[in-house]
Amino acid sequence: MRVRALCTFSRMIWGRYLLTAGLQCCRCRVSSHVKRHYSLLPDDVKSLRAVLSPDISKIRNIGIMAHIDAGKTTTTERMLYYSGYTRALGDVDDGDTVTDFMAQERERGITIQSAAVTFDWKSHRINLIDTPGHVDFTLEVERALRVLDGAVAVFDASAGVEAQTLTVWRQAEKHHIPCVCFLNKMDKPAASLSFSIESIKQKLKANPLLLQIPVGSGKSFTGVVDLLTNQKLIWKLRSVGDDGRTFESKPLDQSDEPELLQEVSEARTALIEQVADLDDEFAELLLTDFSDNFEAVPSVKLEEAVRRVTLARKGVPVLCGSSLRNKGVQLLLDAIIAYLPAPNERHHDLVRWYKDDLCALAFKVLHDKQRGPLVFLRIYSGTLKPQTAIHNINRNCTERMSRLLVPFADQHVEIPSITAGNIALTVGLKQTVTGDTIVSSKASAAAAARRAQNDNGLGKKREEDVTVVLSGVEVPDPVFFCTIEPPTMAKQADLENALNCLQREDPSLKVRVDPDSGQTVLCGMGELHIEIIHDRIRREYGIETHLGPLQVAYRETVLHEASATDTLDRTVGERRHVVTVGLAVSPVDISSATGSYELVFAEDVESQLPQDMKGAVENGVHSSYLQGPLLGYPLQGVTTLIQSVSIEPGTSPAMVSACVSRCMLKALRLAGGQVLEPVMSLEVTVGEEHLSSVLGDLAQRRGTVRDIQSRHDNKVLLGTVPLAEMMGYSTILRSITSGNATFSLELDTYEAMNPQDQNALLKKMAGLL
Ligand code: GDP
Ligand code: MG
Repeated sequence: MRVRALCTFSRMIWGRYLLTAGLQCCRCRVSSHVKRHYSLLPDDVKSLRAVLSPDISKIRNIGIMAHIDAGKTTTTERMLYYSGYTRALGDVDDGDTVTDFMAQERERGITIQSAAVTFDWKSHRINLIDTPGHVDFTLEVERALRVLDGAVAVFDASAGVEAQTLTVWRQAEKHHIPCVCFLNKMDKPAASLSFSIESIKQKLKANPLLLQIPVGSGKSFTGVVDLLTNQKLIWKLRSVGDDGRTFESKPLDQSDEPELLQEVSEARTALIEQVADLDDEFAELLLTDFSDNFEAVPSVKLEEAVRRVTLARKGVPVLCGSSLRNKGVQLLLDAIIAYLPAPNERHHDLVRWYKDDLCALAFKVLHDKQRGPLVFLRIYSGTLKPQTAIHNINRNCTERMSRLLVPFADQHVEIPSITAGNIALTVGLKQTVTGDTIVSSKASAAAAARRAQNDNGLGKKREEDVTVVLSGVEVPDPVFFCTIEPPTMAKQADLENALNCLQREDPSLKVRVDPDSGQTVLCGMGELHIEIIHDRIRREYGIETHLGPLQVAYRETVLHEASATDTLDRTVGERRHVVTVGLAVSPVDISSATGSYELVFAEDVESQLPQDMKGAVENGVHSSYLQGPLLGYPLQGVTTLIQSVSIEPGTSPAMVSACVSRCMLKALRLAGGQVLEPVMSLEVTVGEEHLSSVLGDLAQRRGTVRDIQSRHDNKVLLGTVPLAEMMGYSTILRSITSGNATFSLELDTYEAMNPQDQNALLKKMAGLL
């Protein structure tokens, strides 16, 4: 009863405030949200406005990177709790049973991880954006990193840097994303500060700036000393119902243990020297004002310097704590605000062409059973409003957005507008898929393209050729494919639905139906990609599917020119169809003709042929291009010249198409088939000591090395390698480098196979069939 009454009360207050501000809350009916509503409740309407559209300098868009089990979920939960957006951790007052609580927790875990979550901390807006779990998948990580301005790396302090963190860290480095490290699980007996710091230095090749000294270790870890302020922050040792919200903060004094005092004093001096080495401004301050007494440096000055060093990626602040034991998370939140950049401190290329016009990136699509697709947008410039039309540059379409929401913890709050730097959730966009650039109108896109052109001196190019698209990551053609089958035919429709949803979330996934076998075929960017899709279908859609063997998507071309003629004479029912076709196929440069086919009509044919018959000829040629004569892969780099077509009256277009296809096959056989294989550009980042084994292995894979560069203490190997040789590469690479290498693979070109390799492939495929 009590809870209900409170809830209604809360709803009334909300309703009034929101009405005044012209806003609505979408989910206030749920009783367990009472406390959250209270915590969201501002002192007056004005500050509600501030809550909903914060000043850009007060926004932090950050990602959390962590190896599995390092404590990403637990840390996120604590952040939401301390910022007041979720109710008590196991709050007994609510009378929730433990299992209820667990179920909700788990549910929330999923929502949090599925895209982004927003909360406020000390009048700053924090948007936590999920970095994909499967980090080997470059395209998706790159896209996620694009919407982040900073990142928090969470480590298990007893394990130090682990493989998954290493991979994302390197990507973050590539995108110059400033980071803060959180050494979690300090309560574990095996936790070691010095070991973790050393592993950050060794494995991440980063420059750790230790900002805290832990107080107590293992089970008696109670808090930290902040080296900037010399404050000792102590949480009570775990007692029942203690959520760690309150903690004692007092300056370190002579009553403290001498060892701790000594350790703090040394660590602080070391920090000051380290920062002075990395930041000239701070060094100058030290030398001029505090040369004889480093201890006297004001903490504000030190903090400012640490921030500059962090933003320049010359160093990473390191904090420690234990999320599970509720210690240190508030200080991590403070550090996010203090050291990580606001959106306006980051440079996003291309955005400047839009000036104050809307420019946003769709970085995630979720499927909601009731509301349809929900699209997460990061706004780079301009303002977004609900009930307006927007233009999607990638799809070249205009669509209408019905509602605009902010994903506050697990409740979505409807808002009247949102400005640059923010993250929003939109309802109603049906065409938009992950990675699309959204602007206000076609005209605005054209204006941006003009600005870009003028600046780059691209004056000659036609305007339509230049589109200023944020993603910049073109989705390449899928290079791997395999068949996918549902457990029973009854599940086919469910599978199709799942695949439709997955395709919208992930544009690099393609699904087609094999015209011969009728089987559904998954086409993806790599082995792991297809594995992930398989896994997601099982986990998220509850369908156990069977995958056929993974195959490389080859292409075919011709070696030389050849002509053929063919006549089709067939009587179907009363009607006689007679058509004669003469045509020639010839090779063209494959690099210039990526996938598209070329068709030319001889002049006299073109002028005499009626339009429908011309279409029929085109269809015939097109269908032959889809299936080459050697192995049935699509043709590339072939041009066809239609030399003659004679059609008796009464012949149907379908018969013309059939005749053209048959004639094409004849000509293609005469022209000599050539298999083209996808060749990938490969980038391997590896420690110097393992470089030779990586090179040796690559040589056996028909790989070519283009360049070897140095990045910090690592070597970056750039090269090309045929995709067919790369099956299982991640496992092999891990084993030959003891897990100390990361790689990315992208389609470079299609290249002709040499005769031996091609023969071997043809034999193998014949065996398969
Ligand atoms: P994630 O996989 O990174 O999301 O990690 P989780 O948050 O799910 O945590 C993995 C496991 O580590 C869970 O069993 C947590 O209870 C535990 N864990 C998380 N934080 C701490 C911590 O500070 N100390 C200890 N001892 N365990 C923790
Ligand atoms: Mg987790």
